[in-house]
Amino acid sequence: MMAYDSSNIFARILRKEIPARTVYEDDFALAFHDIAPQAPKHVLVIPKGPYISIADFGATAPSDEIAGFWRAVSKVAEQEGLTQDGFRLISNSGSNSGQEVPHFHVHLFGGTKLGPLLV
Ligand code: IMP
Repeated sequence: MMAYDSSNIFARILRKEIPARTVYEDDFALAFHDIAPQAPKHVLVIPKGPYISIADFGATAPSDEIAGFWRAVSKVAEQEGLTQDGFRLISNSGSNSGQEVPHFHVHLFGGTKLGPLLV
């Protein structure tokens, strides 16, 4: 697996070097609005540790970080009012998926009736 590149934009957001529209933060995760929203509600949730993708995160992160991260995803969905009407999680991993930012992130989409998943 390739090495984590700490100059990626989400690492810079975590270090507060560039701003983000933060909606949630705790010891394990940061959540902020996507800069180019693809749904009325489009939030990104990222772990605070240096993980490239879900493949890397799931395989190498300590259990408390994994649990804390997914707990945060659920909290963000609830806090953003997405749980009542439903929402979608997507995480791109690697080049076939078109992953642009090499820091593991989950997209939360909601606020409307979503179309079918595209392949
Ligand atoms: P990926 O294709 O799954 O890696 O998604 C990367 C996402 O990050 C895209 O939806 C971008 O719009 C979003 N993005 C890129 N730069 C920023 C930023 O500075 N703030 C918030 N979102 C960003």
